[in-house]
Amino acid sequence: MWKIPLSDIDLGAEEISAVQGVLQRRWLTMGEVTQDLEAAFAMYTGSKHAVAVTNATAGLHMACAALGLHAGDEVIVPSLTFVASANAIRYTGACPVFADICGEEDLNISPQAIEACINEHTRAIMVVHYAGYACDMPRILEIARRHDLRVIEDAAHAAGSWLENRHLGTWGDIGVFSFFSNKNMTTGEGGMLVTDSDSLFEKLCLLRSHGMTSLTLDRHKGHAWSYDVVELGYNYRIDEMRAAIGVVQLGKLDQNNERRRELTALYENLLKELPQMTVPFRGHPGMSSAHIRPILLPRGVDRVAFMEQMKAQGIQTSIHYPPIHRFTAYREVDPGASERLPVTTNVAAREVTLPLYPRMTDDDVTAIIDAVIHALLPERRS
Ligand SMILES: *Cc1c(COP(=O)(O)O)cnc(C)c1O
Repeated sequence: MWKIPLSDIDLGAEEISAVQGVLQRRWLTMGEVTQDLEAAFAMYTGSKHAVAVTNATAGLHMACAALGLHAGDEVIVPSLTFVASANAIRYTGACPVFADICGEEDLNISPQAIEACINEHTRAIMVVHYAGYACDMPRILEIARRHDLRVIEDAAHAAGSWLENRHLGTWGDIGVFSFFSNKNMTTGEGGMLVTDSDSLFEKLCLLRSHGMTSLTLDRHKGHAWSYDVVELGYNYRIDEMRAAIGVVQLGKLDQNNERRRELTALYENLLKELPQMTVPFRGHPGMSSAHIRPILLPRGVDRVAFMEQMKAQGIQTSIHYPPIHRFTAYREVDPGASERLPVTTNVAAREVTLPLYPRMTDDDVTAIIDAVIHALLPERRS
């Protein structure tokens, strides 16, 4: 249907044979392949511990639970993110408080806005590295230290993203990565937590599997006969088929992200011809995974008509994101949000995401920019 889709996955014979290998060995859930993926991911990100989970939403919930969040607590989070970030906070009974983003050039949470949201109920800050572009972690950690707050990094977009040579997700107390189908490395559904804290690691392992002190694998290996349940835990385990895909995908991540960054540079270059268009994250500090390519339409352009025009030319676009504080299920959660979020409101109304995936060609980018120019022509607007 699409000449150029929004995204596409790099999946091939290696993943198929990895899954086949798991099926032939007949151990299907949280076994040695999962341990391999965790070890490889910890090594890749330079974190002490990695815990693989069923998806990043479960991982964010575990992160909130491991930090002891509960009813009456507040967690500062951006509204310009996927709803899972804020949902995970609410699962614990804690309340998300939405902070504004930096500006039209930097769609990440603003340290200044974070500080303005802090009160005696604030327990944590959940940052989101939009498209893998780093939040201002040095400043955010400094604020957190000063106010004794924990820091969770929603690093769903950020596999293969660094700031000051430190992988994103390893700056705060816990980082959470997503391996959902449209992310830079995928297992279909899947996710990973990273932490340097031994005590948080132990807690996360308990939360992942019913709060039980031994795993099926330990009992199978004759390491344990029984178990105690020491926490109210969940079943957020990953299976071996997904872990096997993950090992292969992690091996391809750097090369694929490099290609995403090349395509991003090409986009930025071609978009110089359209000075009325805002191109966020140009020259942003650190090295991004370039998960998606957002642009902001000029004020007054009808976004739906623009996206329809792109569709008519065979090009799929998307919106990242409809802001969370406007959703029906969030109307009562943070009633003061609207007045506090002028930049989010402005950006969210104008943002359009253009296609970006490693197998795109340079000619695809040129064709997309031609289509953008065509869609912006006044006579083309309905
Ligand atoms: C994809 C995504 C999630 C959720 O990840 P799942 O693995 O699908 O649960 C959370 N936060 C952000 C910013 C995301 O993009």
